[in-house]
Amino acid sequence: MTHLSNNRKLPSLALGLCLIPLPSSLSARGPLLKRYEFSLPRMGTIFRIELYSPDDATAAKAAEAAFARAEELEQIMSDYREDSELMRLVREGALVPFPVSDDLYDVLAKSLRISELSQGAFDVTVGPLVDLWRNVRKTGRLPDAAELAQAKALVDYKNVELDAVRRTVFLKRAGMKLDLGAIGKGYAADQMLALLHSHGIRQAMVVAGGEVALGAPPPGKTSWRVAIDTPDTVTGNPPCALLLHDAAVSTSGNSRQFVEVNGKRYSHIIDPSTGLGLEGAASTTVIAMNSATADALATALSVMPVADGIRLAESLSGVAAFWVRQAGNGFKRYASRGFPTSCRE
Ligand code: AMP
Ligand code: MG
Repeated sequence: MTHLSNNRKLPSLALGLCLIPLPSSLSARGPLLKRYEFSLPRMGTIFRIELYSPDDATAAKAAEAAFARAEELEQIMSDYREDSELMRLVREGALVPFPVSDDLYDVLAKSLRISELSQGAFDVTVGPLVDLWRNVRKTGRLPDAAELAQAKALVDYKNVELDAVRRTVFLKRAGMKLDLGAIGKGYAADQMLALLHSHGIRQAMVVAGGEVALGAPPPGKTSWRVAIDTPDTVTGNPPCALLLHDAAVSTSGNSRQFVEVNGKRYSHIIDPSTGLGLEGAASTTVIAMNSATADALATALSVMPVADGIRLAESLSGVAAFWVRQAGNGFKRYASRGFPTSCRE
């Protein structure tokens, strides 16, 4: 989550965009830049853009283009829209290799890379287990052993075959179901930030739920301030904030989306090895060079044991991670080498 100040609401624009010009700041040499904030619900969350622009028209045009890109990506990646490209791939890609758009190819290639790095803790084929989890939310009943075994048999990223030359995807087993919920918002945030850049706007931040993509810092500042939502602040641990620019931050957590069965909480993040949602309250934060990587890794590192996660984070350049885990009645914080000290106790 990010903290903003001096917000002043103005009437909504067409397209449902909310335009909020904020007090201007003067850079020493450049033109007068005003701060703008736009937001739009997409992919089950609110996408928010904060940017600095010399005038209203440039800001609105850039933001509209960025939101149009988010809309385009939702139409490709959604598992709620039956007519999305992802859902067509799921229906037809198990029969013959299915030609896909560059976006779907890219996001799947990135997903498989993180699956390999995390040895399946992140698995883009987790769809059948997500369906079971959604069913628990509806019925209040955990899946039985047979249901779990049947779904787990369809979950294995190694059964997704990408052909880089033909740009096709082949699903090796009928009934497989792909789910981009753990990487799609980050991928969209990267694409939106790139679109803002192509409109001449470098000083910008895109926030999509727990995903934050950062461009150059605001005028007169050396960084953006990103506040991290951790479950341990309720026990008195200090809130954690990061100062960053030209980077991405993602936080995956168990505390917001979960189902409760027999007094136990099961997160929407699923451990593919058990087939069930993670238990207990926890958060995992990843800093990376881009938001797709940060998003997927934050989910992967939520599932992996912390010690393995530290090793993985420290093996990747430009990556640092931070964990809050339950310990007894309280919480414990862990950080990989390179994670800013502002969040350590
Ligand atoms: P995030 O909030 O980024 O951690 O993503 C959570 C979402 O990703 C869930 O709502 C599922 O749609 C999907 N998901 C759950 N578990 C996994 C997993 N182990 N690997 C990949 N995607 C997952
Ligand atoms: Mg994620």
